[in-house]
Amino acid sequence: MEDLTELLTSQRFIVVSNRLPILIKSAGGRPTISPASGGLITALEPLLKRNHGVWVGWPGNFDLSEDEVLKLSEKYHHRMGYNLHPIILTKEEVELFYEGFSNEILWPLFHDLQSECHFDPKFWETYQTVNQKFAIKSLPLIENDDFIWIHDYHLMLMGQYLRSEEISTKMSFFLHIPFAPLDIFLKIPWRFEILRGLLQYDFIGFQTKRDKRNFIHCIKTLLKDITIRTYKNHEICLIEGREVYIGTFPISIDFDEFSNLAQKGDVAEEARELKETLNEAKIVFSVDRLDYTKGIPYRLDGIRRFLEKYPEMHGEVIFLQLVVPSRTHISEYHDLKARIDQMVSEINSQFTRPGWVPIQYMFYELSRERLVAYYRAADVILVTPVKDGMNLVAKEYVAANVEENGVVILSEFAGAAAQMKEYSLLVNPYDVEGVADSIHFALNLPASDRKSFMQSLRKLIKTEDIYHWISSIHQATHSSSDEDIPVTEEYIPAEY
Ligand code: UDP
Repeated sequence: MEDLTELLTSQRFIVVSNRLPILIKSAGGRPTISPASGGLITALEPLLKRNHGVWVGWPGNFDLSEDEVLKLSEKYHHRMGYNLHPIILTKEEVELFYEGFSNEILWPLFHDLQSECHFDPKFWETYQTVNQKFAIKSLPLIENDDFIWIHDYHLMLMGQYLRSEEISTKMSFFLHIPFAPLDIFLKIPWRFEILRGLLQYDFIGFQTKRDKRNFIHCIKTLLKDITIRTYKNHEICLIEGREVYIGTFPISIDFDEFSNLAQKGDVAEEARELKETLNEAKIVFSVDRLDYTKGIPYRLDGIRRFLEKYPEMHGEVIFLQLVVPSRTHISEYHDLKARIDQMVSEINSQFTRPGWVPIQYMFYELSRERLVAYYRAADVILVTPVKDGMNLVAKEYVAANVEENGVVILSEFAGAAAQMKEYSLLVNPYDVEGVADSIHFALNLPASDRKSFMQSLRKLIKTEDIYHWISSIHQATHSSSDEDIPVTEEYIPAEY
C-alpha cells in the first residue's frame, strides 16, 4: 500500500465538493472564515497544503458578494496553506439543485426510499446547470498532472461537462452514499443521463460491494453499448474507447484522533461524571442526524419491545438518544422530528418510574469532546439505519472505546456492516423483536467476549483508517494491477 508521505510529494490535489470545508460567520458585522471539521477534511488538508492544492465548492453563504468571499478565501490561503475556489450559487440554485434534486430525489432514491422523492423537472434542469457551472469555473484551475477528485451525489454530472471541454487530466469521483438497486434506480426519469454522465469519469469509487454491484447491474441492463471486464477487486467499463475503473473503498475515520481524545483527562472525567449522573446504569447510546434513513422510529419500536419483554432490566439501563438537527425546512424531516418526539414521550410515559427515565433524548449537536465522552461512557452503541452509505458513528465509537468493553449493535444495511460484521451484533432494523433481543444479548455479553470483539474491531478500524482510504484510492487510480488494493467483502445475511 502506498504511503501517504509518497502522495504528499507527488501530485497536486484538486478536490471538488458541494460545500467548501469552511464556516463563514459574521463577528461584529465583519465576516470571518474558519475551517470546518470532519475526518475527510483533516485527512485531505495535508495533501492540499503540499503543492498548492485547491478545494472547489460552494461557500454556503448568501450574504456576501463574490468579491467578499474571494477576499476571505485569500486570507484563508495564507493561514491554511491551500487555496479555496468558491463557486457562488444563487438562492434559487441552492433551492433547486441542492435541496431539490440532491436532497429530495437522489438522497431518498439512493437510500431505497422512492416514496420520499419529488421528481420535479425544474430540479433536474438546475442540477445540470449547476454541475456545468462547477465544471466551467474549475476548468481554468486544472493542469495536466493534477489529481482531480470530485465528491458525492451533488456532482455526478460535473465530469461530463469537464470532458466536453476536452480536458485530458484523469478525473476521479467518489460516491459517499449508497447506489440504488436497478428496480429503484429505474424510477428516476433521468436514469440514462445519470449513468452516462457518471461514466465520463475515469475512476468511480463506491463505499461497498453492494453499491458497486447495483451500479454495474444498472449499466449491464440499461446500456447495451458498454463492455465490462471484471477483475479481482474492480471492474473496467469500456466506453467510447476509454476505460473507466469501478472500485470499492469503504471510507473511515482518523482512528488515532478519536482514540487519543477519548484518553484525555477531561474527556475521561466527563465520561465518568455522565455514568455517575445516570446512577451507574448501563448506557445504550445512539447518535444520528435527523434523517429518515437512520431508522429512528423503528429503533424506538425495538426499545419499546425490549422494555416490555425484559422488565427485569428496568432501572438497569438507559437509552441515550442524540439527534442532530438537519434539513428541518424539508417537510418530511419536520414530520419525522414530530414522530420521534411523540414516540419518545409515549415510551417514557409508559415505563418511567421515580428515579429512572428509560430514554434520555437530546435534539442538538454536541461538541466533539463531549461526543467522545459519551462514546466512552456508553456500554453499547445502537446503530440501526434502514440504509447508510457507511456510518461513521459506529467506527468512531470503536476508536473511542479505549477500555475495550463496549458492544456494537449494527444494522445489516449500514455500509460499515461489510467490514465490522464478524465482531458486531448485526440486526435487521425492521425486525423489532430481533433488535430488542440484540440489546438484551449485548447487555449480558460476558466481559471476555466484549473485550475480544472490541480488540478485533479496534485493530481493524485502526488499520483501515481514513489515511488508508485515501492511499488505496490514489493507488487504484495509478496502477493497472489489483494486487495492492485490499479486497473488500460484501455482507450477505446467512440463514440460520
Ligand atoms: N457528529 C457531530 N456532532 C454531533 C453528533 C455527531 O459532529 O453532535 C458527527 C459524528 O462525529 C460523525 C457524523 O456526525 O462523524 C455522522 O456521520 P455518519 O456517517 O454516522 O452519518 P451521516 O450524518 O454522515 O449520514
